[in-house]
Amino acid sequence: MSKIRVHDKFFEPYLSATSIEEKVELIANQINHDYADKNPLFIAVLNGSFMFAADLFKRLTIEAEISFIKLASYKGTKSSGHVITAIGLDAELYGRNVVIVEDIVDTGKTLHKFLPQLHHQQPASLKIAALLYKPEAVIYPVAVDYVGFSIPNKFVVGYGLDYNGLGRNIKEIYRLAD
Ligand code: 5GP
Repeated sequence: MSKIRVHDKFFEPYLSATSIEEKVELIANQINHDYADKNPLFIAVLNGSFMFAADLFKRLTIEAEISFIKLASYKGTKSSGHVITAIGLDAELYGRNVVIVEDIVDTGKTLHKFLPQLHHQQPASLKIAALLYKPEAVIYPVAVDYVGFSIPNKFVVGYGLDYNGLGRNIKEIYRLAD
């Protein structure tokens, strides 16, 4: 694989489709084990998590439900610092075993803002699954229970993640080239 261009920037190959697939399978197996007979409710945070959420959900062999919320904080390759709820949550969380599905945890601001709203509804349990996690970027610490890849603090695109709207359809994950 070689470099690609998205808008004005160049990105280099980082995580192959196969390595992502294997990691998603691994997380699904853990969740199948941890949530057998618990009918978990997955809440996927749109837009970026749609591909991870779909691949993860397909691999679940247990009873499970899914719902979606749309939050946004990014403009270009930098977090704007403001988290906007564009589509709210329609599910009842009281007494449910909830798993938040995120594409990436970067500063942690999105989850930091969103988690209290969920706790308020008194779920039986609340865990987080994130395909990517940038430990060096964390400003608001959040405990991520299921992590796909811990990655350096570099902007990435592909597999659902965009740069100004483009790149979400790429099967692999690319990172900003120097
Ligand atoms: P946080 O609130 O943790 O700073 O950021 C979470 C959201 O920012 C993610 O769900 C994602 O939409 C976006 N984001 C953070 N880092 C990246 C990145 O490297 N690439 C892309 N495309 N989006 C990112």
